[in-house]
Amino acid sequence: MADTIFGKIISGHIPCHRVYEDDRVLAFLDINPLSVGHTLVVPKEPAVTGTRDYNVLENNGAPAHQAIAHVHFHIIPKPNGQEGLVVGWPAGALDPARGQELAEKIRAALLHIGK
Ligand code: 5GP
Repeated sequence: MADTIFGKIISGHIPCHRVYEDDRVLAFLDINPLSVGHTLVVPKEPAVTGTRDYNVLENNGAPAHQAIAHVHFHIIPKPNGQEGLVVGWPAGALDPARGQELAEKIRAALLHIGK
């Protein structure tokens, strides 16, 4: 396991507000959310892509800039500081009590979907 914050979260050495976990993936609330429910989905095995700089983006719904109503992911290279995706990132701070409540809610919703 790579020695990163996410590696430590996966191994349980750093706590998180977990919303989903299986053998391959851990999903948990971002500690500095851009909006309520901002979740990180992390493969347990650290991946090496070979590509240095790029963004992966999925837009869902017209207000989130989805134009084509068929699920798709954008892979957008960032070859220099100019081209590629421009991201606004107005981060807040995750309140621990609110985080616990929210993670429980999302876990319950995921269990409901799984049935
Ligand atoms: P990146 O900038 O690598 O795309 O995203 C990393 C994300 O991890 C950031 O949005 C940041 O808020 C989040 N993050 C960093 N450290 C921690 C942590 O210790 N716990 C949690 N839950 N999220 C973290």
